[in-house]
Amino acid sequence: MYAKVIIDQDAKALDRVFEYIVPDDLDIVTGMRVYVPFGCRILQGFVVDLCDKCDYDPSKLKKIISKIEDFPAIKQEMLSLMQYMAKKNHLKLASILRLFIPAEMREGKVKELFETHYLFNAEIEINIAKNAKKQQEIIDYLKNHNNHASSSELNQFGYGAIKALTDKGILIKEKREVRRAPFVISETAKKVKLNVDQQKAVEKITEDKTYLLHGVTGSGKTEVYMHLIERALTQGKNAIMLVPEISLTPQIMSNFKSRFGDAVALLHSGLSAGERFDEWKRLFSGEARIAIGARSAIFAPLENLGMIIIDEEHEQSYISESNPRFDTHDVAQFRARYNKCPLVFGSATPSIESYEKALQGLYSLVELPVRANGKELPKIQIIDMMAEIRTGNSGIFSNQLLADLTNVVNNKKQAMIFINRRGYSSFQRCRDCGYIAKCVDCDVSLVYHREDNRLKCHYCGKQYKVLTRCPKCGSENIKNGAVGTEQVVSKLKEYFPDVKILRMDNDTTSTKNAHQKILNEFKNSLPAILVGTQMIAKGHDFENVVLVGIVDADQSLYHADYRSTERTFQLITQVSGRAGRSEAEGKVVLQTYSPRHYVYKFASNYDYKGFFRKEENIRQTSQFPPFTRIIRILFSDHDENYVRELLKVCYTEIEGLKERYNNDIIYLDAMKSPIKRIQDKYRYQIMMRLKLENADKIEEEVFNIVDKNSKTSVFFEINPQNLS
Ligand code: ADP
Ligand code: ZN
Ligand code: ZN
Repeated sequence: MYAKVIIDQDAKALDRVFEYIVPDDLDIVTGMRVYVPFGCRILQGFVVDLCDKCDYDPSKLKKIISKIEDFPAIKQEMLSLMQYMAKKNHLKLASILRLFIPAEMREGKVKELFETHYLFNAEIEINIAKNAKKQQEIIDYLKNHNNHASSSELNQFGYGAIKALTDKGILIKEKREVRRAPFVISETAKKVKLNVDQQKAVEKITEDKTYLLHGVTGSGKTEVYMHLIERALTQGKNAIMLVPEISLTPQIMSNFKSRFGDAVALLHSGLSAGERFDEWKRLFSGEARIAIGARSAIFAPLENLGMIIIDEEHEQSYISESNPRFDTHDVAQFRARYNKCPLVFGSATPSIESYEKALQGLYSLVELPVRANGKELPKIQIIDMMAEIRTGNSGIFSNQLLADLTNVVNNKKQAMIFINRRGYSSFQRCRDCGYIAKCVDCDVSLVYHREDNRLKCHYCGKQYKVLTRCPKCGSENIKNGAVGTEQVVSKLKEYFPDVKILRMDNDTTSTKNAHQKILNEFKNSLPAILVGTQMIAKGHDFENVVLVGIVDADQSLYHADYRSTERTFQLITQVSGRAGRSEAEGKVVLQTYSPRHYVYKFASNYDYKGFFRKEENIRQTSQFPPFTRIIRILFSDHDENYVRELLKVCYTEIEGLKERYNNDIIYLDAMKSPIKRIQDKYRYQIMMRLKLENADKIEEEVFNIVDKNSKTSVFFEINPQNLS
């Protein structure tokens, strides 16, 4: 028999199937990982097919050396998924297969954990010395514990006694596999009866198609998800549920754990290597039937899926921006089609792209229009920070926000202060009139690059001088850079020295379970103020939060990204959803330097549909996705001359496509990447924007051109989120 093997190496030259002979004494099945000879090395590989005939001269083939594990780590469905992703995202086969198994397993760093257990042998006559008290205690202990105990339980009696009994045959030693389980705070979830809207949603979501569940914040989407998953389980099927970030999982996890117990397995980057490996194995073996986790959980090794759910589907974290690049939505759709099961994208603020698809009938729209507890959404008050400056207040906080914070503190309630920060790039703004520097060609904000003190457009690469004087009002009061969480916390401490003030951002949450600790401390303090970034925006359900302050809402608005208005709308809605979730009425104070921007009008009225129509219109006229397709091809290499040469060759050939596709190519240019060098690799890129009609064909041709010319990896990004 012959095996087709993909070598587990991230190299373009090895990105194909190699044939090996399967030795007679090795029972290999498809999907197993194996050691194979390759040149003069021994490498790991994946068996992707077995056949009786080979394509290559059999006398030249080498033999598989051995199996790495006894089980086929890659299941049949995942092999099909590999083919799909390779074609769709122009990825190398091995890089995809790596996504399907825990990294630690590939590196050979984790193994199953075993613990010694002792069984009491009732068959044998007990003859122990009268003074052997410890031995007698062990026997009593075992009799009280179903004749069985682990070594950690028995250690208290001393090793000598255990050994003596084992030698006599009274105890029988046995090795058992232990599952390292991630820590989850288990709260007993209140069992609620579904309201009419929720009931309708659950009844509607039955077919094997894609549903867009559009439910306002607090509408009880989680409850709907749990019912859908429960139904899948009773049908004997399994389920995957994705959440955007681990800071969200503590609450979701405790809800799901209390409802479904050990049927739930957690997959996310916050687990230890051993925990992740064991959770993966529980899913693989069918012990666990629900995978919950961030993006990578979409690759959970579950078969027979009956439900796939992506919560907060609009979140950027569902798009992998490092190699291998893919969109979780696509992968989920593949798996849903393969398993013929429903797929649910849920959000209070669906992405423009997804909502557009729902309107076109590609997704089926399901709505939850009101909060489950019947409470109103909190009032959003817009504060014009330019007016604050004119009246002499140039601090971080408006007078209104300070007054409201004082109120919260006096009433022993809680507030959240949200600092909007994305990446390290920033824009320049006139502090007197609010002017923002934009690209004349693309109408997106320019990004300030500290290294060469220039402003740059991330879509066309055009560079501008930094502002020293405002072109609109002549002021020299130009500001760049953003306010940070630390700065806000120290200011708050000046105003409220006796109040508990907590900070949650990347710096304070790098250690294990740090999220949970901060959130717990916040939950148990009254009054308290939690200052944080995007991390505090989503999912949390704190009943004492009555005020949400958004310090500088514009931060995401003037990001150099065609999606920045959409992001701003989503963030405001999400953050606002944290306020007034229980009895007390909630309020949001939104500070902005551009109070008349349309996004604030729609967001403050929670008018998603109004916002969608406006934004759809703008995207259509300015020719941005979802009405066009942006492709970025990123070339990077240590050798700058090589990349530059490659870029030139590819660009010339791609430009040749204009002969046939002139009407379809809206924009095409080659340039240095905004960040010219990362990890000592020089970065150059080709950017193109295409009309949709022939986009697939053009993308394919472009890929072939690049693939043919380059000897190293080139990265393809479709509608990229981050253009650095
Ligand atoms: P969403 O995810 O849509 O923002 P959640 O799922 O967090 O909303 O639900 C908001 C709150 O409403 C939670 O405290 C939840 O327990 C509660 N809830 C959900 N469904 C119901 C219901 N049918 N009746 C009463 N309360 C409900
Ligand atoms: Zn100005
Ligand atoms: Zn531009």
